[in-house]
Amino acid sequence: MALTVPLADGIWRVPLIGDFTNGFLLRDADGQVTVLDMGLSFSGKRVMKALTSIGSGPSDVTRLLLTHCHPDHAGGAAYVAEQTGRAVSVHADDAEYVRTGTQPDPDPAQRSALLTRLLPSGSTKPAPVAEEMLYDGQVLDVAGGLEVVHTPGHSPGHCSYLHRDSGLLITGDAIFNVLGIRWPLKMLCSDFAMTKQTAHRLAELDYTTAAFTHGPEITDRPREAIRTFLAKEA
Ligand SMILES: [Zn+2]
Repeated sequence: MALTVPLADGIWRVPLIGDFTNGFLLRDADGQVTVLDMGLSFSGKRVMKALTSIGSGPSDVTRLLLTHCHPDHAGGAAYVAEQTGRAVSVHADDAEYVRTGTQPDPDPAQRSALLTRLLPSGSTKPAPVAEEMLYDGQVLDVAGGLEVVHTPGHSPGHCSYLHRDSGLLITGDAIFNVLGIRWPLKMLCSDFAMTKQTAHRLAELDYTTAAFTHGPEITDRPREAIRTFLAKEA
């Protein structure tokens, strides 16, 4: 499996467990690199290898971002933070979970015994969290401008990201593309009804590539594909 898959000029997907779990690297014109999502606890090393493969090093990394606090996204954050000396930027509603290595309560409507095995609280190494919290509509100074789109439900502070310059949407876990576009597992959401509701924001945005934290990107009319999925599921 390739260490990186180019998505746009200066933006790469980092397949962390095949295409099933992805992180992303975004490089500014001046060489500063942002790492977005860092996989499971053992994925941190692969993130650092991917960084080397694009010709950058730990000292080029100026920002760490997360879509959300779950262990398959924030798990590698402690290692990458240690290697780069950077703290993790996250939405305020997920910050405490990242800082303490805990997980939000599951959706009471979907509670199942399996869940406690899939998302065991305390299984994620606590990672340093940046003081400045991410907020909806914020445009980060990343690769010429990366917009934070708060899409809560999967977790309280879950965010998707839109890179307007390249027309790239990173959905996060709002929607998966694993054997087709689908919802994340209900029992892994804090509030599944809210997940379905806030995903509609992704239909309103403008993009020509949709990248996913779970599954490969869609480059052929992704907006239409996502709109069709959402319309069917409404
Ligand atoms: Zn998740």
